[in-house]
Amino acid sequence: MSIQKNIQWFSQEVLPAGVQLVAVTKTKPPEDILEAYHAGHRDFGENKVQELVDKYHQLPQDIRWHMIGHLQSNKVKYIAPFVHLIHGADKPKLLKIIDKEGKKNDRVLDVLLQFHIAREETKFGFDEQEARQMLDSDEFRGYNFIRVRGVMGMATLTGDTGQIRSEFRHLGQIFKELKSDYFADQPHFDQISMGMSHDYALALEEGSTMVRIGSMIFGPRNNH
Ligand SMILES: *Cc1c(COP(=O)(O)O)cnc(C)c1O
Repeated sequence: MSIQKNIQWFSQEVLPAGVQLVAVTKTKPPEDILEAYHAGHRDFGENKVQELVDKYHQLPQDIRWHMIGHLQSNKVKYIAPFVHLIHGADKPKLLKIIDKEGKKNDRVLDVLLQFHIAREETKFGFDEQEARQMLDSDEFRGYNFIRVRGVMGMATLTGDTGQIRSEFRHLGQIFKELKSDYFADQPHFDQISMGMSHDYALALEEGSTMVRIGSMIFGPRNNH
């Protein structure tokens, strides 16, 4: 199937109304992105700052770029002028820098708090207690250039669907608890970014509002 067909199939047949598709284009050339763009798609995700910045300069300006990967504090400045949503806000220090760079650019930057829900040690993210500590802090409450839109998480890479489901369910619970304890009066706290090519169906069942799909749309990536 073509990229265009895959995009249309996903947006029109797979995803329930209200769920957003972030088309993940890492390692893929601009031509592939343009094919999806010409099919009407505008939300694209990259996991590396350099690649994100290069593609931003090469491609149409109305694309909404999502930074979905691990983000180092010293690189926030490169994406702050244009990024649409940062999915991987995973440390108090990173949020501090995001606020600072937002201020410099006079833009309120949308972020998702990334939670560590997987069994694997290597996945980044807050645990709930750390996130609450940050949300309770005066420092965080003083940020005027960050808007927290919700949460993000990645499940363990496993064939055990029960395990994946319970991790996604856990993220859904975290979202609900934070919503009621910190964001009850903030309707823009409304996003749960979970689900990739191999586990999006489970993520949707567990309440995902935003799936990040790469290989099912653009084909397998060359390992490099
Ligand atoms: C690569 C990537 C995806 C998409 O992965 P696929 O398996 O190709 O759908 C989603 N989220 C993040 C954070 C990624 O790095």
